[in-house]
Amino acid sequence: MIKIKVKFITLGCKTNIYESEAMAQLFEESGYEVIKSGIADIYVVNTCTVTGTGASKSLKMIRRARRENPNGCLAVTGCLAQTEAERLRKEENIDVLIGNEHRADIVGLCEEALKGKKTDAIRDAREITEFEELGIVHRQHRIRAEIKIEDGCNNFCSYCKIPYARGPVRSRSMSKIEEEAKTICNDGYSEIVLTGIHIGSYGKDLEENIGLIDVIERVSAVTDGIRIRLGSLEPVMITEEFVRRAAKIKGLCPQFHLSLQSGCNRTLKAMNRHYSAEEFKTAVENLRKAFEDCAITTDLIVGFPGESDDDFEESKRFCEEIGFAQMHIFPYSVREGTLAAKLPNRVPESVKNTRCHTMLRKAADMKKNFCEKFAGKEVDVLFEQEKNGVWSGMTANYTEVRKKTKENLRGKTLKVKVLEYDSENECLIAE
Ligand code: SF4
Repeated sequence: MIKIKVKFITLGCKTNIYESEAMAQLFEESGYEVIKSGIADIYVVNTCTVTGTGASKSLKMIRRARRENPNGCLAVTGCLAQTEAERLRKEENIDVLIGNEHRADIVGLCEEALKGKKTDAIRDAREITEFEELGIVHRQHRIRAEIKIEDGCNNFCSYCKIPYARGPVRSRSMSKIEEEAKTICNDGYSEIVLTGIHIGSYGKDLEENIGLIDVIERVSAVTDGIRIRLGSLEPVMITEEFVRRAAKIKGLCPQFHLSLQSGCNRTLKAMNRHYSAEEFKTAVENLRKAFEDCAITTDLIVGFPGESDDDFEESKRFCEEIGFAQMHIFPYSVREGTLAAKLPNRVPESVKNTRCHTMLRKAADMKKNFCEKFAGKEVDVLFEQEKNGVWSGMTANYTEVRKKTKENLRGKTLKVKVLEYDSENECLIAE
């Protein structure tokens, strides 16, 4: 019997990737074939709107999918669908327009669309109050698997559109998280990544008095020591109690992604971030005391409206003082509908680009300083892929290590001795 073919096009973050995997599984369980190339009968575009680039790429993919099969079913989900529904309705020929809910019903909605019944089911994200359970995802690549533990964000940072796209914080039930963690473990994975839109807010909407630290403890208890990595965290949640309990958790990777966004207090205030540079530094110090050689990684925005040369210098100096192991640097991009879009004193593109390049150079120096500490030491590496006889994998603190060998190392965790840091490829070389 010929199966109906479905193709997924996913943009944006790890949460989107997780949700696409979950939806693909729903199609497979209903007898559809999920394909990576060729013409499909159904296209699902899972969109992003976090930056202007994410939004324009999403739009491009919607149009490409429609061109690829003008008579097929086109379903559009995700953050762009949620925030730009009006425009998509007017300008694009979409059969199933759902935002960040109704994904559990996607198979039935596409079936209806193939029979000619379109769906437009977008409502204000602020009205979404329930975590949408998409089932326990079984995956195939068997090395690292994400578990979505929450959705939504209540923070309303002034530059960010996510709270408008994802709605308020909704936590997944602990029992479902445990069930998925056990499944991942039984499926033979070596690493779990706890992901969501603002995982530090886990539990805020629940009656029970539980938070992210409880989730990590429970996941560790049911997975018997496989690596657990955390998505992005906020410095304010790195309390002494969090660090004390985290340090005892078996398998928790000593890599913490603390979003800084700016190291200048004036800019942080304009961004509506709820911490100061000093509080950020205290969080880092607490983590470093508890986790030897831990990697502190971060995101930084340069050229936020009103960021003067002095503010940028202050931010840059602060980053150097912290010494990040890795940084993601973004030039500020205007997101219509946010508070920052209305702020005066926009920074010219040329200045943003210069600041971006300056920070990229600094970030490369910091990474080198961090990595060079490991020369001559032994590290545990989870190997993932091979290219030209060289295997690469990640340490627990998320540093890439490469090793030349004929042996198949895929999915193996090995102790290796580090020879040196390769600046060109920004990775460690093992003996
Ligand atoms: S914490 Fe701020 S940047 Fe992160 S999703 Fe929420 S509003 Fe956006």
